[in-house]
Amino acid sequence: MQTITVLGATGSIGLSTLDVVNRHPDRYRVFALTGNQQYKQLIDLAKQCAARYVVIADESYYPQAIEYAGEVSLGADVLTGSLALQQVASAAEVDCVMAAIVGAAGLLPTLAAVKAGKRVLLANKESLVMSGELFMQAVIDHNATLLPIDSEHNAIFQCLPQDFTRAQLTDSGISNILLTGSGGPFLHIQESELVSVTPQQACAHPNWEMGRKISVDSATMMNKGLEFIEACWLFGLQADDIKVVLHPQSVIHSMVQYIDGSVIAQMGNPDMRTPIAYGLAYPHRIHAGVDALDFSSISAFTFDKPCPQRYPNLYLAIDAFKHGQYATTALNAANEVAVDAFLAEQIKFTDIASINESVLNSIEPVQLTSIQDVIEFDAQARSVARRILTGIMA
Ligand code: NDP
Repeated sequence: MQTITVLGATGSIGLSTLDVVNRHPDRYRVFALTGNQQYKQLIDLAKQCAARYVVIADESYYPQAIEYAGEVSLGADVLTGSLALQQVASAAEVDCVMAAIVGAAGLLPTLAAVKAGKRVLLANKESLVMSGELFMQAVIDHNATLLPIDSEHNAIFQCLPQDFTRAQLTDSGISNILLTGSGGPFLHIQESELVSVTPQQACAHPNWEMGRKISVDSATMMNKGLEFIEACWLFGLQADDIKVVLHPQSVIHSMVQYIDGSVIAQMGNPDMRTPIAYGLAYPHRIHAGVDALDFSSISAFTFDKPCPQRYPNLYLAIDAFKHGQYATTALNAANEVAVDAFLAEQIKFTDIASINESVLNSIEPVQLTSIQDVIEFDAQARSVARRILTGIMA
Protein backbone atom coordinates (compact mmCIF):
# COMPACT_ATOMS: atom_id res chain seq x y z
CA MET A 1 0.00 0.00 0.00
CA GLN A 2 1.49 3.35 -1.06
CA THR A 3 0.38 6.63 0.49
CA ILE A 4 0.15 9.47 -2.01
CA THR A 5 0.01 13.24 -2.12
CA VAL A 6 -1.30 14.73 -5.37
CA LEU A 7 -0.04 18.29 -5.93
CA GLY A 8 -2.33 19.96 -8.47
CA ALA A 9 -5.16 17.46 -7.92
CA THR A 10 -7.81 19.64 -9.60
CA GLY A 11 -5.88 19.87 -12.89
CA SER A 12 -5.79 17.62 -15.91
CA ILE A 13 -2.89 15.46 -14.63
CA GLY A 14 -4.23 15.51 -11.07
CA LEU A 15 -7.64 14.19 -12.17
CA SER A 16 -6.06 11.50 -14.37
CA THR A 17 -3.92 10.46 -11.40
CA LEU A 18 -6.96 10.12 -9.15
CA ASP A 19 -8.70 8.12 -11.87
CA VAL A 20 -5.84 5.57 -11.87
CA VAL A 21 -5.49 5.60 -8.08
CA ASN A 22 -9.23 4.98 -7.60
CA ARG A 23 -8.99 1.87 -9.81
CA HIS A 24 -6.56 0.32 -7.31
CA PRO A 25 -7.82 0.90 -3.76
CA ASP A 26 -5.81 -2.14 -2.65
CA ARG A 27 -2.53 -0.44 -3.72
CA TYR A 28 -2.93 3.31 -3.07
CA ARG A 29 -4.23 5.50 -0.27
CA VAL A 30 -4.49 9.30 -0.63
CA PHE A 31 -2.82 11.40 2.07
CA ALA A 32 -3.31 14.91 0.66
CA LEU A 33 -4.73 16.73 -2.36
CA THR A 34 -3.84 20.28 -3.34
CA GLY A 35 -5.36 22.92 -5.61
CA ASN A 36 -5.08 26.66 -6.04
CA GLN A 37 -8.52 28.26 -6.37
CA GLN A 38 -11.00 25.54 -7.32
CA TYR A 39 -11.83 24.81 -3.69
CA LYS A 40 -15.20 23.10 -4.24
CA GLN A 41 -13.81 20.61 -6.71
CA LEU A 42 -10.80 20.02 -4.46
CA ILE A 43 -12.93 19.35 -1.39
CA ASP A 44 -15.33 17.08 -3.31
CA LEU A 45 -12.35 15.07 -4.59
CA ALA A 46 -10.85 14.86 -1.11
CA LYS A 47 -14.13 13.59 0.29
CA GLN A 48 -14.41 10.93 -2.44
CA CYS A 49 -10.97 9.52 -1.75
CA ALA A 50 -10.94 10.08 2.04
CA ALA A 51 -7.83 12.27 1.98
CA ARG A 52 -6.46 13.39 5.36
CA TYR A 53 -5.44 16.87 4.21
CA VAL A 54 -6.41 19.35 1.52
CA VAL A 55 -4.38 22.42 0.69
CA ILE A 56 -5.94 25.39 -1.08
CA ALA A 57 -2.79 27.23 -2.14
CA ASP A 58 -4.37 30.63 -2.79
CA GLU A 59 -4.98 32.00 0.72
CA SER A 60 -7.77 34.32 -0.43
CA TYR A 61 -9.95 31.23 -1.07
CA TYR A 62 -9.32 29.73 2.37
CA PRO A 63 -12.40 31.14 4.19
CA GLN A 64 -14.73 29.85 1.44
CA ALA A 65 -12.93 26.50 1.46
CA ILE A 66 -13.37 26.12 5.23
CA GLU A 67 -17.06 27.00 4.96
CA TYR A 68 -17.65 24.53 2.12
CA ALA A 69 -15.69 21.79 3.93
CA GLY A 70 -18.10 22.26 6.88
CA GLU A 71 -21.16 22.13 4.60
CA VAL A 72 -20.14 18.78 3.10
CA SER A 73 -18.78 17.40 6.41
CA LEU A 74 -15.31 16.84 5.01
CA GLY A 75 -13.34 14.56 7.31
CA ALA A 76 -9.99 16.17 6.43
CA ASP A 77 -7.98 19.14 7.65
CA VAL A 78 -8.00 22.13 5.30
CA LEU A 79 -4.70 24.02 5.05
CA THR A 80 -3.58 26.97 2.95
CA GLY A 81 -0.46 28.70 1.64
CA SER A 82 2.78 27.68 -0.03
CA LEU A 83 4.33 26.27 3.14
CA ALA A 84 1.40 23.88 3.53
CA LEU A 85 2.06 22.61 -0.03
CA GLN A 86 5.60 21.77 1.01
CA GLN A 87 4.43 20.13 4.24
CA VAL A 88 2.02 17.70 2.56
CA ALA A 89 4.68 16.89 -0.07
CA SER A 90 7.28 15.99 2.54
CA ALA A 91 5.23 14.51 5.42
CA ALA A 92 6.67 11.34 6.94
CA GLU A 93 3.51 9.31 6.16
CA VAL A 94 3.85 9.96 2.38
CA ASP A 95 5.59 7.45 0.06
CA CYS A 96 4.85 9.00 -3.31
CA VAL A 97 4.14 12.53 -4.59
CA MET A 98 2.55 13.39 -7.92
CA ALA A 99 4.04 16.80 -8.87
CA ALA A 100 1.33 18.24 -11.12
CA ILE A 101 1.10 21.92 -10.22
CA VAL A 102 1.40 24.03 -13.36
CA GLY A 103 4.29 26.45 -13.80
CA ALA A 104 6.96 27.85 -11.50
CA ALA A 105 4.59 27.51 -8.52
CA GLY A 106 5.40 23.79 -8.62
CA LEU A 107 9.11 24.21 -7.90
CA LEU A 108 9.21 24.50 -4.10
CA PRO A 109 6.65 21.79 -3.26
CA THR A 110 8.25 19.38 -5.74
CA LEU A 111 11.66 20.11 -4.31
CA ALA A 112 10.30 19.57 -0.79
CA ALA A 113 9.23 16.08 -1.84
CA VAL A 114 12.66 15.44 -3.38
CA LYS A 115 14.46 16.65 -0.24
CA ALA A 116 12.30 14.33 1.87
CA GLY A 117 13.54 11.42 -0.29
CA LYS A 118 10.12 10.58 -1.72
CA ARG A 119 9.22 8.76 -4.87
CA VAL A 120 8.41 11.77 -7.05
CA LEU A 121 6.28 11.45 -10.18
CA LEU A 122 7.31 14.51 -12.15
CA ALA A 123 4.73 16.13 -14.41
CA ASN A 124 5.73 19.73 -13.54
CA LYS A 125 8.42 20.19 -16.19
CA GLU A 126 8.90 23.85 -15.24
CA SER A 127 10.78 22.89 -12.04
CA LEU A 128 13.51 21.16 -14.05
CA VAL A 129 13.58 23.93 -16.65
CA MET A 130 14.13 26.51 -13.89
CA SER A 131 16.59 24.66 -11.72
CA GLY A 132 17.78 21.52 -13.55
CA GLU A 133 21.24 21.11 -12.07
CA LEU A 134 20.26 22.01 -8.50
CA PHE A 135 17.14 19.86 -8.74
CA MET A 136 18.96 16.76 -10.04
CA GLN A 137 21.67 17.20 -7.39
CA ALA A 138 18.94 17.28 -4.72
CA VAL A 139 17.54 14.01 -6.11
CA ILE A 140 20.97 12.40 -5.67
CA ASP A 141 21.75 13.99 -2.28
CA HIS A 142 18.42 12.97 -0.76
CA ASN A 143 18.16 9.56 -2.40
CA ALA A 144 14.79 10.42 -3.95
CA THR A 145 13.30 8.38 -6.79
CA LEU A 146 12.38 10.56 -9.76
CA LEU A 147 10.04 9.08 -12.37
CA PRO A 148 9.11 11.10 -15.46
CA ILE A 149 5.38 11.46 -16.17
CA ASP A 150 5.52 13.72 -19.22
CA SER A 151 4.52 11.18 -21.89
CA GLU A 152 7.69 11.78 -23.95
CA HIS A 153 10.08 11.37 -21.02
CA ASN A 154 8.14 8.42 -19.73
CA ALA A 155 8.45 6.89 -23.21
CA ILE A 156 12.21 7.54 -23.33
CA PHE A 157 12.55 6.05 -19.85
CA GLN A 158 10.74 2.92 -21.06
CA CYS A 159 12.98 2.67 -24.18
CA LEU A 160 16.31 3.10 -22.37
CA PRO A 161 18.30 0.07 -21.25
CA GLN A 162 17.31 -1.24 -17.81
CA ASP A 163 19.30 0.39 -15.00
CA PHE A 164 20.41 3.23 -17.30
CA THR A 165 22.04 6.00 -15.31
CA ARG A 166 22.66 9.57 -16.45
CA ALA A 167 26.37 9.05 -17.06
CA GLN A 168 25.97 6.10 -19.41
CA LEU A 169 24.72 7.49 -22.70
CA THR A 170 27.57 6.44 -24.97
CA ASP A 171 28.41 3.27 -22.97
CA SER A 172 24.84 2.10 -23.56
CA GLY A 173 25.19 2.30 -27.34
CA ILE A 174 22.66 5.12 -27.64
CA SER A 175 23.14 7.45 -30.59
CA ASN A 176 20.12 9.75 -30.27
CA ILE A 177 16.98 10.47 -28.36
CA LEU A 178 14.06 11.20 -30.69
CA LEU A 179 11.61 13.49 -28.93
CA THR A 180 8.29 13.42 -30.76
CA GLY A 181 5.68 16.17 -30.86
CA SER A 182 2.37 16.51 -32.69
CA GLY A 183 2.90 20.10 -33.84
CA GLY A 184 -0.31 21.13 -32.05
CA PRO A 185 -3.48 22.61 -33.55
CA PHE A 186 -1.70 24.99 -35.96
CA LEU A 187 0.46 22.50 -37.84
CA HIS A 188 -1.34 23.05 -41.11
CA ILE A 189 -2.66 26.63 -41.04
CA GLN A 190 -0.95 29.36 -43.07
CA GLU A 191 1.84 31.03 -41.06
CA SER A 192 0.29 34.41 -41.88
CA GLU A 193 -2.89 33.35 -40.00
CA LEU A 194 -1.07 32.65 -36.72
CA VAL A 195 -1.31 36.31 -35.77
CA SER A 196 -5.09 36.10 -35.42
CA VAL A 197 -5.66 32.71 -33.73
CA THR A 198 -7.69 32.81 -30.49
CA PRO A 199 -7.00 31.23 -27.08
CA GLN A 200 -9.91 28.88 -27.70
CA GLN A 201 -8.33 27.64 -30.95
CA ALA A 202 -4.91 27.34 -29.30
CA CYS A 203 -6.35 25.25 -26.45
CA ALA A 204 -8.11 22.83 -28.82
CA HIS A 205 -5.29 20.30 -29.14
CA PRO A 206 -6.05 17.68 -31.82
CA ASN A 207 -4.94 14.67 -29.71
CA TRP A 208 -4.47 15.52 -26.03
CA GLU A 209 -6.78 17.00 -23.39
CA MET A 210 -4.64 19.20 -21.16
CA GLY A 211 -4.67 22.32 -18.98
CA ARG A 212 -4.77 25.70 -20.74
CA LYS A 213 -1.14 26.72 -20.18
CA ILE A 214 0.38 23.52 -21.58
CA SER A 215 -2.16 23.58 -24.44
CA VAL A 216 -0.91 27.01 -25.55
CA ASP A 217 2.68 25.80 -25.07
CA SER A 218 1.86 22.85 -27.36
CA ALA A 219 0.46 25.20 -29.99
CA THR A 220 3.66 27.31 -29.96
CA MET A 221 5.82 24.19 -29.45
CA MET A 222 7.34 25.89 -26.41
CA ASN A 223 6.12 22.74 -24.70
CA LYS A 224 8.53 20.70 -26.85
CA GLY A 225 11.27 23.19 -26.02
CA LEU A 226 10.61 22.84 -22.29
CA GLU A 227 10.58 19.07 -22.76
CA PHE A 228 13.89 19.26 -24.61
CA ILE A 229 15.43 20.99 -21.58
CA GLU A 230 13.69 18.59 -19.20
CA ALA A 231 15.05 15.58 -21.12
CA CYS A 232 18.60 16.94 -21.01
CA TRP A 233 18.46 17.21 -17.21
CA LEU A 234 16.59 13.98 -16.57
CA PHE A 235 18.79 11.76 -18.71
CA GLY A 236 22.10 13.66 -18.57
CA LEU A 237 22.05 14.64 -22.27
CA GLN A 238 23.74 17.34 -24.33
CA ALA A 239 21.69 19.39 -26.80
CA ASP A 240 23.14 17.43 -29.73
CA ASP A 241 21.91 14.12 -28.29
CA ILE A 242 18.26 15.01 -28.95
CA LYS A 243 16.36 15.39 -32.20
CA VAL A 244 12.82 16.76 -32.24
CA VAL A 245 10.56 14.90 -34.66
CA LEU A 246 7.05 15.98 -35.69
CA HIS A 247 4.63 13.08 -35.46
CA PRO A 248 1.09 14.48 -35.78
CA GLN A 249 -0.69 11.24 -34.83
CA SER A 250 0.72 11.28 -31.23
CA VAL A 251 0.90 7.49 -31.12
CA ILE A 252 4.67 7.20 -30.77
CA HIS A 253 5.47 9.11 -27.59
CA SER A 254 9.25 9.19 -28.19
CA MET A 255 12.09 6.89 -29.26
CA VAL A 256 15.66 5.91 -28.50
CA GLN A 257 18.00 5.29 -31.42
CA TYR A 258 20.97 2.92 -30.93
CA ILE A 259 24.33 2.78 -32.75
CA ASP A 260 23.52 -0.60 -34.33
CA GLY A 261 20.63 0.99 -36.24
CA SER A 262 17.85 -0.12 -33.89
CA VAL A 263 15.15 2.34 -32.86
CA ILE A 264 13.01 1.51 -29.84
CA ALA A 265 9.71 3.40 -29.65
CA GLN A 266 7.03 3.51 -26.98
CA MET A 267 3.49 3.69 -28.37
CA GLY A 268 0.00 3.99 -27.03
CA ASN A 269 -3.19 5.98 -27.25
CA PRO A 270 -2.67 9.63 -26.25
CA ASP A 271 -3.92 9.29 -22.67
CA MET A 272 -1.84 10.50 -19.71
CA ARG A 273 -3.17 7.68 -17.53
CA THR A 274 -0.64 5.35 -19.21
CA PRO A 275 2.53 7.20 -18.06
CA ILE A 276 0.84 7.98 -14.72
CA ALA A 277 0.09 4.29 -14.11
CA TYR A 278 3.64 3.40 -15.17
CA GLY A 279 5.08 5.88 -12.67
CA LEU A 280 2.75 4.80 -9.87
CA ALA A 281 3.44 1.07 -10.23
CA TYR A 282 7.05 1.08 -11.52
CA PRO A 283 8.68 -1.43 -11.98
CA HIS A 284 5.34 -3.25 -12.27
CA ARG A 285 2.42 -2.61 -14.63
CA ILE A 286 -1.17 -1.94 -13.61
CA HIS A 287 -4.41 -1.28 -15.47
CA ALA A 288 -4.78 2.40 -16.32
CA GLY A 289 -8.28 2.40 -17.85
CA VAL A 290 -6.72 3.13 -21.27
CA ASP A 291 -7.96 1.29 -24.38
CA ALA A 292 -5.47 -0.95 -26.16
CA LEU A 293 -3.96 0.63 -29.26
CA ASP A 294 -5.89 -0.56 -32.32
CA PHE A 295 -3.39 -0.69 -35.19
CA SER A 296 -6.11 -1.41 -37.73
CA SER A 297 -7.55 2.06 -37.06
CA ILE A 298 -4.26 3.88 -37.70
CA SER A 299 -4.09 4.77 -41.38
CA ALA A 300 -0.73 6.58 -41.38
CA PHE A 301 2.33 7.25 -39.28
CA THR A 302 4.00 10.45 -40.52
CA PHE A 303 7.15 12.29 -39.45
CA ASP A 304 8.60 15.69 -40.24
CA LYS A 305 10.97 18.37 -38.99
CA PRO A 306 9.52 21.35 -37.08
CA CYS A 307 9.81 24.55 -39.10
CA PRO A 308 11.64 27.39 -37.24
CA GLN A 309 9.37 30.08 -38.76
CA ARG A 310 6.21 28.36 -37.53
CA TYR A 311 7.67 27.32 -34.15
CA PRO A 312 10.24 29.96 -33.07
CA ASN A 313 9.65 29.14 -29.37
CA LEU A 314 11.02 25.61 -29.80
CA TYR A 315 14.30 26.96 -31.14
CA LEU A 316 14.48 29.71 -28.47
CA ALA A 317 14.28 26.98 -25.81
CA ILE A 318 16.99 24.83 -27.41
CA ASP A 319 19.19 27.89 -27.66
CA ALA A 320 18.46 28.87 -24.05
CA PHE A 321 19.57 25.42 -22.89
CA LYS A 322 22.89 25.94 -24.66
CA HIS A 323 23.34 29.27 -22.83
CA GLY A 324 22.72 27.78 -19.38
CA GLN A 325 20.46 27.79 -16.37
CA TYR A 326 19.92 31.56 -16.22
CA ALA A 327 18.57 31.55 -19.79
CA THR A 328 16.14 28.64 -19.29
CA THR A 329 14.89 30.19 -16.02
CA ALA A 330 14.32 33.54 -17.79
CA LEU A 331 12.64 31.89 -20.77
CA ASN A 332 10.28 29.92 -18.55
CA ALA A 333 9.35 33.07 -16.60
CA ALA A 334 8.83 35.13 -19.77
CA ASN A 335 6.73 32.40 -21.32
CA GLU A 336 4.43 32.13 -18.28
CA VAL A 337 3.83 35.89 -18.36
CA ALA A 338 3.25 35.87 -22.14
CA VAL A 339 0.93 32.83 -22.14
CA ASP A 340 -1.17 34.32 -19.30
CA ALA A 341 -1.51 37.54 -21.32
CA PHE A 342 -2.48 35.63 -24.47
CA LEU A 343 -5.08 33.61 -22.54
CA ALA A 344 -6.45 36.90 -21.17
CA GLU A 345 -6.66 38.16 -24.79
CA GLN A 346 -4.22 41.01 -24.08
CA ILE A 347 -1.71 40.02 -26.79
CA LYS A 348 -1.60 38.09 -30.05
CA PHE A 349 -0.44 34.48 -30.32
CA THR A 350 2.66 35.56 -32.23
CA ASP A 351 3.56 38.07 -29.46
CA ILE A 352 4.41 35.13 -27.17
CA ALA A 353 7.60 34.38 -29.10
CA SER A 354 8.45 38.10 -29.43
CA ILE A 355 8.19 38.60 -25.65
CA ASN A 356 10.24 35.46 -24.95
CA GLU A 357 12.95 36.52 -27.36
CA SER A 358 13.05 40.11 -26.07
CA VAL A 359 13.44 38.90 -22.47
CA LEU A 360 16.29 36.57 -23.47
CA ASN A 361 17.98 39.47 -25.26
CA SER A 362 17.51 41.80 -22.26
CA ILE A 363 19.01 39.69 -19.47
CA GLU A 364 22.67 39.40 -18.56
CA PRO A 365 24.26 35.97 -17.93
CA VAL A 366 24.44 35.14 -14.24
CA GLN A 367 25.40 32.09 -12.16
CA LEU A 368 22.44 30.65 -10.24
CA THR A 369 23.97 28.67 -7.41
CA SER A 370 21.00 28.21 -5.08
CA ILE A 371 17.22 27.83 -5.31
CA GLN A 372 16.94 31.29 -3.77
CA ASP A 373 19.00 32.64 -6.72
CA VAL A 374 16.66 30.86 -9.13
CA ILE A 375 13.55 32.30 -7.49
CA GLU A 376 14.98 35.84 -7.47
CA PHE A 377 16.11 35.58 -11.09
CA ASP A 378 12.70 34.21 -12.09
CA ALA A 379 11.07 37.28 -10.46
CA GLN A 380 13.50 39.60 -12.26
CA ALA A 381 12.76 37.99 -15.65
CA ARG A 382 9.01 38.25 -14.98
CA SER A 383 9.29 41.98 -14.36
CA VAL A 384 11.27 42.42 -17.61
CA ALA A 385 8.58 40.40 -19.43
CA ARG A 386 5.79 42.53 -17.90
CA ARG A 387 7.55 45.71 -19.00
CA ILE A 388 7.81 44.42 -22.58
CA LEU A 389 4.20 43.26 -22.40
CA THR A 390 3.04 46.72 -21.33
CA GLY A 391 4.88 48.16 -24.35
CA ILE A 392 3.10 45.73 -26.70
CA MET A 393 -0.32 46.45 -25.19
CA ALA A 394 0.13 50.25 -25.32
P1 NDP B 1 -3.87 22.33 -15.14
O1 NDP B 1 -3.89 23.78 -15.43
O2 NDP B 1 -4.95 21.47 -15.66
O3 NDP B 1 -3.80 22.12 -13.54
C1 NDP B 1 -2.89 22.81 -12.76
C2 NDP B 1 -3.00 22.45 -11.30
O4 NDP B 1 -2.11 23.30 -10.55
C3 NDP B 1 -4.40 22.69 -10.71
O5 NDP B 1 -4.62 21.80 -9.66
C4 NDP B 1 -4.27 24.13 -10.17
O6 NDP B 1 -5.22 24.43 -9.16
C5 NDP B 1 -2.86 24.07 -9.60
N1 NDP B 1 -2.25 25.39 -9.53
C6 NDP B 1 -2.28 26.39 -10.46
N2 NDP B 1 -1.59 27.45 -10.03
C7 NDP B 1 -1.12 27.15 -8.80
C8 NDP B 1 -0.36 27.87 -7.81
N3 NDP B 1 0.05 29.13 -8.02
N4 NDP B 1 -0.06 27.23 -6.65
C9 NDP B 1 -0.49 25.97 -6.41
N5 NDP B 1 -1.21 25.24 -7.30
C10 NDP B 1 -1.52 25.83 -8.47
O7 NDP B 1 -2.44 21.79 -15.61
P2 NDP B 1 -2.06 20.36 -16.20
O8 NDP B 1 -2.59 19.28 -15.31
O9 NDP B 1 -2.34 20.31 -17.63
O10 NDP B 1 -0.46 20.41 -16.08
C11 NDP B 1 0.18 20.29 -14.82
C12 NDP B 1 1.67 20.15 -15.05
O11 NDP B 1 1.91 18.91 -15.73
C13 NDP B 1 2.28 21.25 -15.94
O12 NDP B 1 3.57 21.53 -15.49
C14 NDP B 1 2.33 20.60 -17.32
O13 NDP B 1 3.37 21.12 -18.11
C15 NDP B 1 2.60 19.15 -16.94
N6 NDP B 1 2.14 18.18 -17.94
C16 NDP B 1 0.81 18.14 -18.26
C17 NDP B 1 0.36 17.24 -19.21
C18 NDP B 1 -1.10 17.12 -19.56
O14 NDP B 1 -1.45 16.25 -20.37
N7 NDP B 1 -1.97 17.93 -19.01
C19 NDP B 1 1.29 16.34 -19.92
C20 NDP B 1 2.64 16.44 -19.44
C21 NDP B 1 3.05 17.34 -18.49
P3 NDP B 1 -6.68 25.09 -9.56
O15 NDP B 1 -7.37 24.03 -10.37
O16 NDP B 1 -7.33 25.33 -8.25
O17 NDP B 1 -6.38 26.32 -10.34
